[in-house]
Amino acid sequence: MITEMVAFDVAGTVLNDDGVVISAFKKAFAHAQPELWPTHSVEWTQYALDTMGQSKIHVFTQLLGDEKKAQAANLAFEEAYLAEITRIGATPIDGAEEIFKQLKEKGIAIALTTGFSRATLDVIVEKLNWSSLIDISITPGEAGRGRPHPDMLIQASERLGISSPQAVIVCGDTAADMQAALSFGALQAVGVLTGAHNAQTLKNAGATSVVNSVAEVMSLI
Ligand SMILES: [Mg+2]
Repeated sequence: MITEMVAFDVAGTVLNDDGVVISAFKKAFAHAQPELWPTHSVEWTQYALDTMGQSKIHVFTQLLGDEKKAQAANLAFEEAYLAEITRIGATPIDGAEEIFKQLKEKGIAIALTTGFSRATLDVIVEKLNWSSLIDISITPGEAGRGRPHPDMLIQASERLGISSPQAVIVCGDTAADMQAALSFGALQAVGVLTGAHNAQTLKNAGATSVVNSVAEVMSLI
């Protein structure tokens, strides 16, 4: 079957992360739970690492157990993340933009999916000047559920008129990306090693292949 769409995760896959997400998590926890943070810092940081790729608001709700605290933490997360991205700049993973251009030339649609909210994603896309390079971007809130659920992939496919999940390649840096690709029924779940999780974790989560970075994706199409 002809590939009609490649769906890329953002942070750690096409956007350089360099620990910015995890540092924003730490600031958010400290802000939302100042009393508990000092004693839970190791445990919560590990949880944030393990669940990387999932909806941030979902992760905060799971960990803090309360919608209100989760909302406050998510707000602090987004503020910290955007402040850091503004300070150091948003930089693409080497080769990401070239891949976007090559896919476009071949008539293959480009979707971005993420664990960020729409507000954060829009800032990233604007800073990188990617709006003309990509065909669609979907956030967890818009799709229904975030990863590991396949909702964002389903919505991107529906909105772009993709004929079948078997015409879709999914590319991401976390176990949650691979799980979402699998339950969607994607042709390929491609893990990249530029982000949160290692090759073994990605394979255990169902990666059909693992490559060093998004720059190698073209060779799999
Ligand atoms: Mg990621």
